[in-house]
Amino acid sequence: MTDEQGTSGAILVVGGGISGLTSALEAAEVGNDVFLIDKNPYFGGRVAQLNEYFPKMCPPSCGLEINFRRIRDNRKIRTYTMATVESISGGPGNYDVTLEIAPRYVNSNCTGCGDCTAACPDEIDNPFNFGMNKCKAAYLPHEMAFPRRYVIAKDALSADGAAAVKDACKYDAVDLDMQSEKVTLNVASIIWATGWTPYDAAKIDNLKFNESNAIVTNMMVERMAAPSGPTAGKIVVPGSDKEIESIAFVQCAGSRDENHLEFCSYVCCMATFKQMNYIREQYPEAKIYVYYIDLRTPGKYEKFREKLMADENATFIKGKVADINVEADGTVTVIAENAITGNKVQQTVDMAVLATGMQPEMAEGGAPAGLTLDSNGFVLSDLQKGLIGAGCAKKAADVATTTQSSTAAALKAIQVSRR
Ligand SMILES: Cc1cc2nc3c(=O)[nH]c(=O)nc-3n(C[C@H](O)[C@H](O)[C@H](O)COP(=O)(O)OP(=O)(O)OC[C@H]3O[C@@H](n4cnc5c(N)ncnc54)[C@H](O)[C@@H]3O)c2cc1C
Ligand code: SF4
Repeated sequence: MTDEQGTSGAILVVGGGISGLTSALEAAEVGNDVFLIDKNPYFGGRVAQLNEYFPKMCPPSCGLEINFRRIRDNRKIRTYTMATVESISGGPGNYDVTLEIAPRYVNSNCTGCGDCTAACPDEIDNPFNFGMNKCKAAYLPHEMAFPRRYVIAKDALSADGAAAVKDACKYDAVDLDMQSEKVTLNVASIIWATGWTPYDAAKIDNLKFNESNAIVTNMMVERMAAPSGPTAGKIVVPGSDKEIESIAFVQCAGSRDENHLEFCSYVCCMATFKQMNYIREQYPEAKIYVYYIDLRTPGKYEKFREKLMADENATFIKGKVADINVEADGTVTVIAENAITGNKVQQTVDMAVLATGMQPEMAEGGAPAGLTLDSNGFVLSDLQKGLIGAGCAKKAADVATTTQSSTAAALKAIQVSRR
């Protein structure tokens, strides 16, 4: 156990996605000591997995890398990856927080040379690409990973694999005996920026996610469209090189549905318009069908919607998808009731994309001591206790809204630390 007491008024930020990065920087740049932790082996959260992000349609590196540089340059911020909160005691202004740090099996000698990956004979399903391809069991989580340090999936290593990765590392960075560690921090307040996880599409029985490779989720499309993704940027039916002649987007897949997520995830309509763009760039003639309850593109996003709705090869059908049939030839048939005509409509396509929503990460695991969640699992901030929600941990939102709420969270945390 290591004691790492923060100076009086230190702030702990749990979650290092765009929200946690923003809160950490805002608080540190006015002089507060900040501890920033993430359960992943890297910072950047879900934004790192996007191909491009609206409204500017730039790659995630354009927003994340500048934040990584600011974090690296700021001596007020201490970072921990593969770290989660094990326990919290004390009270506002004086919390003792014990972190559990999982073993990475690669120590700080790692230079990122990649020799261990080259030597490793064993593979795992690539977690960053939702298992759509394999990566080595000794790997860099993704090309933009910060910190740029490799990680080893020790359970997936064969005896030969273990020897090979150890021998390959010239810097003595591979440590397969590494154990989990505990670190205790003393902080005045805690910002919860734990973000979201894609709603589990397998839970939506009628949409048959597990029954066909031709039924994918919107986040899988983000990875496929990314040049560093499992198909080197080509959107195809996973597991084949089948090019797309027709595609259906199924909006509100599990969202606004009391059996799944009862709320609107705010970004899924925009994400679909963005992904229509990806399809158009690769398949200028493909037929696109969008099934929706309402199309929600607030404020400045209206222009984006108008542009894509003018696409002559795109059809928008107002109606909730009731079923998807998997056909013998690998195509899928989307069945819905048209809410305007009242008719049952069906369309066979090469691929169906389920626009699944953002479930708060804490919805499944529950709240740590002292923290209150609403019925959907979003954090309810408590300023008196100095426990503050930020970003998608608090409300499903786009990056712009998330960063605003994270700046606000930092200001609240600073107030608590200076009481
Ligand atoms: C298909 C799709 C496409 C999208 N495209 C866009 C777009 O183009 N433009 C846009 O503005 N928005 C887009 N979004 C929304 C965007 O992804 C979110 O606004 C953004 O990810 C919110 O950032 P966050 O930091 O709140 O959460 P996250 O990105 O989820 O980050 C949370 C971080 O917390 C960590 N964490 C979670 N639990 C713990 C824990 N217990 N302990 C420690 N760490 C933890 C996670 O590992 C993660 O790194 C899209 C969303 C979807 C579903
Ligand atoms: S662990 Fe060693 S071999 Fe692997 S990338 Fe790091 S320095 Fe290179």
